[in-house]
Parts: sequence; structure tokens; C-alpha cells
Amino acid sequence: MPTEAVSTSSCPANSVATKSTRYDPRLLGGGAVVPYIGMWTGEEFLSTQFVQHASGGIGYADEMLLDRDEWGVLWTRVTVGIGAGRPLFDKLHPLRQRRAITRLLCQVCAQPADRTEQGHLWLLPEQPSYEPDWPKDVPITLPPVCLACARLSVRMCPALRPTYVAFRAHSRICGVRGVQFAPGHPFPRPVPELEDEEFFCHEDPAIPWVMATQRARTLRDCVYVDLDQLANTSESAQHCPRVEPVWSDPR
Ligand SMILES: [Zn+2]
Repeated sequence: MPTEAVSTSSCPANSVATKSTRYDPRLLGGGAVVPYIGMWTGEEFLSTQFVQHASGGIGYADEMLLDRDEWGVLWTRVTVGIGAGRPLFDKLHPLRQRRAITRLLCQVCAQPADRTEQGHLWLLPEQPSYEPDWPKDVPITLPPVCLACARLSVRMCPALRPTYVAFRAHSRICGVRGVQFAPGHPFPRPVPELEDEEFFCHEDPAIPWVMATQRARTLRDCVYVDLDQLANTSESAQHCPRVEPVWSDPR
């Protein structure tokens, strides 16, 4: 993640996939499935110059309206070129991640995630916890999933094969992950001890100093589910017929 600026993306989060440009997880061909929220080698973070506002906080020297979200948080600048180059399965694209978690779209196929009265379907590469209602109030940046993609992912995705937890939960947008900056001369700089990305809630006094890279939700009313059992009882298993049980890392 770049720490000194990033520059122009002319593409807002909601421009990467519309009704007329439905995302196809089979972009690569050959049976590989590439999650919608993943980054590609042809996409890049762009450099620009940070400035410090007199009232406190950071901005871009050539800041534009789309550089901030509806909470006024500054976002990293990144190009949008889904399908360009090779997929980077371990990196999330900031704008596609933001679009998916905001609209509660499946992180793999970008269609509406599975939902019942118990909430949306979520999948985390974690050990189930014995704490009641876990992961309640834990900031989550991975968007939800549809049932077909969930069943596929736990069998084929390297991050989920060792262990995973599937659950339904209600959620709300709560903040961002990002890099915190501090005053500096001639430009503000990342806080050295916080150079890695961290979570910041929207109410955090430090948020004006943050450059966001991912949006987060907190969950409540979490109920563990068995994906195979769901598939036998839910029509949503048919939700994503294009994603067959094939997953490969083409690198
Ligand atoms: Zn899906």
C-alpha cells in the first residue's frame, strides 16, 4: 500500500459494474474464478501530493469531489481495470470492495448476497469462536456472499480451505481501514508506528487524518450456519449458476 499519495481515479465505485456491465467471475477463462473484489496487476495506486488542512486533517493538493465518500473520508486513488493483467487474489481493490460491502453484493460474483430475515450470509477465514454472538461488533471488510459462491469458495479458495466460519448476520457500515497520517514538513506523513492499515470508526477523532482503502461493517445477531444444509433448503443455491465448482489460481 502506498503511503505517499495516490492519484486520479476517474472511476467512482459504482462505475465498475452496472446493470449493463455485469461482472463475470470467469474473466480468465480456463475454469478459473476470480472474485470481483480482487485487484489485478494492471490496476495501480496512483501517486499525488498530500496537503495538511489548516483545520487539521489531510487532503490531496488536487483534491476532487470523488476523493471523499459520503462520510467525508479521504480515499486512496486507484485505477480501475478489472481483467487487466493477472488477478492478485490476496489484494482487495478499494473501489470494488467499497461498492460490494456498501450494497451488500457477493464478493465473488457481484450479485446480491444471500439474504433471509436473519440477515446476509458471511464467510470468514477464521476459527469459530465460543464467545456468544461472535463476531458481533468486530469490523469486517470482506463483503457478504451468495450461497453458490460460498459453497464454492470453502472448497476451492486457499484462504478458506484450512478453516472458515459461515454465519448470517445483520450489519451496518461503521468505518474504514486505512493509513493514518500526522503533520509533517513539507507534507503530512504516515504515522510511523501505524504505517500498516488499521480500522477507524467514523466517529474516531483521527478520521480526518486517515486515507481509507477499505470500508468496514460491524455485525449483530450472528447465527452460525451449515452451508450444505442451507443448499438443501434454500432456493438461493441456484442464485449464481455461472459459477461452477472450479477454482484455480492462474499465477
Ligand atoms: Zn456470488
